[in-house]
Amino acid sequence: LSARLAELRDLPAETADGVRIRLNANIEFPHETSAAIERGADGIGLYRTEFLYLSSEQEPSEEDHYQAYSQVVREMCGRPVVIRTLDLGADKMGHRPLVEQEHNPFLGLRSIRLSLRNLDLFRPQLRAVLRAAVHGDVRVMFPLITTIAELRQARMLLNLVAEDLKDEGIPYRGDIPVGMMVEVPAAVVMLENFVREVDFLSIGTNDLAQYTLAVDRSNEYVADLYQSSDPAVLRLIARCVEVADNAHTSLAVCGEMSSMPARALLLLGMGVRNLSVPPSSLPRVKKAIRSVSINQCQEIAARVMKLEAARDVDMYLLDRLGDLV
Ligand code: PEP
Ligand code: MG
Repeated sequence: LSARLAELRDLPAETADGVRIRLNANIEFPHETSAAIERGADGIGLYRTEFLYLSSEQEPSEEDHYQAYSQVVREMCGRPVVIRTLDLGADKMGHRPLVEQEHNPFLGLRSIRLSLRNLDLFRPQLRAVLRAAVHGDVRVMFPLITTIAELRQARMLLNLVAEDLKDEGIPYRGDIPVGMMVEVPAAVVMLENFVREVDFLSIGTNDLAQYTLAVDRSNEYVADLYQSSDPAVLRLIARCVEVADNAHTSLAVCGEMSSMPARALLLLGMGVRNLSVPPSSLPRVKKAIRSVSINQCQEIAARVMKLEAARDVDMYLLDRLGDLV
């Protein structure tokens, strides 16, 4: 680590006018925790647990999950760790074919839908999360929540495994914060209802943009239509900020948008105060945060919200924040 990076690590993610931003790390493997700490992450904002599934030869056991989570939680020494439950399906398939070939896998049996239909997969993971919570500040987050029923089912299952652990005399913590990812437009539309039933929200701009714009971002024919800076996506994010603020529910942005410095500053201007980015992006994003005032960000956001196309948004950001884009 260079001296400049090390210096930046010890400085807070704070704007020039002193507004503290929570800057967390997204990780996929426990070994990335050290990189997150070295680059000064305030916590783990998104632990993509499906990678344990995708990287191992055999299906991971409850013990495998528990060991992986405990390692991350212990290493973070009391800082928050948001464990996202399995986000398998669509582009992320394990060894066991969990679904037959689907015509539209991104609209299919993926993520929380798949977990809720495969309890032999989901239950061991939830048990491991509650067991690992004994070692630090663990929060659990459900991906791709689309309906209230899904959220309630997932929460109910979490309560059931807590009761099992209690009956079995296994150490666990049952009262951990429960959150959901906001990455389906339906969840944004219904957000007033969701905030009554969760402790925190995290916007996944990758999927939110994909589902809002009806664009498969891995499809080269339409990839240019995929932009998290699209005004339609920005309006959905603005709505999330408003609903979360009114309900005093904490809101983070953990999609790739938050690791693009100019877009991260746009998010601050829109009222977001919690970002989660890959460890490699932490220094860049922190540097950007420290270089602006909240007023500047708000002024930029106000102008951006009047624009009608992603291209105009990007050009404006380039013009205002050129060296950061
Ligand atoms: C997202 O959709 O923005 C997100 C963070 O989840 P993933 O990229 O793992 O789908
Ligand atoms: Mg997603």
